[in-house]
Amino acid sequence: MARRKKIYEGKAKILYEGPEPGTIVQYFKDDATAFNAEKKDVIEGKGVLNNRLSEYFMTGLNNIGVPTHFIKRINMREQLVRAVEIIPLEVVVRNVAAGSISKRLGIEEGTPLPRPIVEYYFKDDKLGDPMVGEEHIIAFGWASQQDLDDIVSLALRVNDFMSGVMMGVGIRLVDFKIEIGRIWDGDYMRLVVADEISPDSCRLWDVTTGQKLDKDVFRRDLGNLADAYTEVARRLGVLPKNSAPLGKPKLIN
Ligand code: C5P
Repeated sequence: MARRKKIYEGKAKILYEGPEPGTIVQYFKDDATAFNAEKKDVIEGKGVLNNRLSEYFMTGLNNIGVPTHFIKRINMREQLVRAVEIIPLEVVVRNVAAGSISKRLGIEEGTPLPRPIVEYYFKDDKLGDPMVGEEHIIAFGWASQQDLDDIVSLALRVNDFMSGVMMGVGIRLVDFKIEIGRIWDGDYMRLVVADEISPDSCRLWDVTTGQKLDKDVFRRDLGNLADAYTEVARRLGVLPKNSAPLGKPKLIN
């Protein structure tokens, strides 16, 4: 294969120039990081699983009319996506208290929230992705009020879709993070869901046992991360055909 131009290497993915103008190849690595990369490991097979799972969620969103950057999966570790201008925000939607909201506001993990809560964090590793409000976003020009209205609407549609899909396989969608990109068509701009949607960026709890099936398994040393992601992929029916058979169930909660 011809050498491709690397555009960007992040903690979990590498972006290469795509075959057509306006396209990007997104490569999923096996690297796992947490706490702003203070904790690091290589989890064999994670990239393959996240490539499949992100394909599954993004395709589902495209099919119900929620625009995403996703075009198609190319191989085990790569997918073709539209090039976008990333808005420098991590958009988090929460249905159940966990993680940073529990810490910040003293709400016990597992407490259902009265309604889905949308939060914004400024994407800046050096600053540790600080939480910001609409005032900061508009004042600093990261997005306009109109963009924010569209972002909230996209985030809540993703939440409804993902909650339903996961509940169908016995998994509670506790929270998730998405990134939003701009695509320009001449003067006309539209916002799409970009980056990835995978157990790296969601909290997923088994409905009956409460078992964690997401990156908290790695963050909190609760067991084998690849086994947890494999379980999500298996339930959704998106396990790669030649993946290793599931071993004896391991207790990871
Ligand atoms: O840590 P916190 O509770 O704020 O995370 C909320 C959600 O956003 C979790 O599902 C987490 O996995 C995701 N997240 C992420 N990338 C970050 C921060 C949070 O995917 N940099």
